[in-house]
Amino acid sequence: MFQINEDYLKLQGSYLFSTIAKKIQVFQEENPEKDLIRLGIGDVTRPLVPAIIEALHKAVDEMADAKTFHGYAPELGYEFLRSAMAKNDYTDRGCDISKDEIFISDGAKGDSGNIQEIFAKDNKIAVCDPVYPVYVDTNVMAGRTGTFNKETEMWSDVIYMPCTKENDFKPELPKETPDIIYLCFPNNPTGSTITKDELQVWVDYANKVGAVIIYDAAYEAYITRDNVPHTIYECKGARTCAIELRSFSKNAGFTGVRLGAAVIPKDIKRGEVTLHQLWARRHGTKYNGAPYIVQRAGEAVYSPQGKEQIKDQVGYYMKNAKVIYEGLKEAGYNVSGGVDAPYIWLETPKNMTSWQFFDYLLEKANVVGTPGSGFGPSGEGYFRLTAFGSYENTLAAIERIKNI
Ligand SMILES: *Cc1c(COP(=O)(O)O)cnc(C)c1O
Repeated sequence: MFQINEDYLKLQGSYLFSTIAKKIQVFQEENPEKDLIRLGIGDVTRPLVPAIIEALHKAVDEMADAKTFHGYAPELGYEFLRSAMAKNDYTDRGCDISKDEIFISDGAKGDSGNIQEIFAKDNKIAVCDPVYPVYVDTNVMAGRTGTFNKETEMWSDVIYMPCTKENDFKPELPKETPDIIYLCFPNNPTGSTITKDELQVWVDYANKVGAVIIYDAAYEAYITRDNVPHTIYECKGARTCAIELRSFSKNAGFTGVRLGAAVIPKDIKRGEVTLHQLWARRHGTKYNGAPYIVQRAGEAVYSPQGKEQIKDQVGYYMKNAKVIYEGLKEAGYNVSGGVDAPYIWLETPKNMTSWQFFDYLLEKANVVGTPGSGFGPSGEGYFRLTAFGSYENTLAAIERIKNI
């Protein structure tokens, strides 16, 4: 008789997006004439750029000919993509990462969820609060988080690092020593970043206590300021303590195409065993790579035309971010994020809770956003708007908010 994995029963329901969907449905039924603008989406909306479309077409044609057909991809991914990443993302930035330390995958969501499998079950994780929910949920599934306290909305065996306006939305070194530290900069949901010097403190700390940092670089392409690192390997000593996750989703619009990579330097070891070797073994068994066609599309991201076109696309979203950021400021809101990230994080006014503000914005401006409390207890009192809408809708939404 089979038994189920009871750790899955500990997962809290995906309350956030289902509640939002229900509230929108009720609102639309009651107000069929109202035109809603959604600034809550965490997904890109612009089409793939021409350089990528061209590469996809070409790769599809190759699959139609026996001479250029491709079957299973190599376990680490195709050399052409790993070299392009090693060069453009690392070597050209002065970072020491080689192409055989890059594992091509079907996205950072999967990698950020799967990576915990190579660590012992009793390892303790530390996460920012608020946080991208995948890091905690996958550790819940693995039985690593203890029990959930419904009052505090916290797991007994997780170290939470609050990120609020008091610390400029940057985590502080935890009092209790973690084994695995999840960091994501530029951050989802707060849109905050840290400087290279500040990240160096984390790298030094991880090396000192023997922890590993899982660094999610999904929003790297949105960085505009010079002192914000594009990769954790800009920091000294990161090769012995940091795994980096890369995604093609938010920079190049691959959310539906699926492509990412995990970077695992060969210098992260416990005794004689390297994390690189464990991940290679896992990748070879539970393959979660990407198709040849998609890897060719990823290569095009690094072509001169691809780079130019993608820069324009990120620029499109960042123009929206600026409209939101400046518009809210003018309207008297306390806002952060939005400069190196497509997310604008605002403090809810008049002591409203995150959910009260959701209802307020929906009713008064017919604008949909995301309550900060959905990302963790320290997100209470905050609210996320995203720059992934159309420019016209973004302008219109901000006008409406100003006119409340
Ligand atoms: C969107 C997002 C990703 C990207 O995941 P993919 O699987 O590559 O689409 C990763 N991390 C964070 C924090 C994100 O918000």
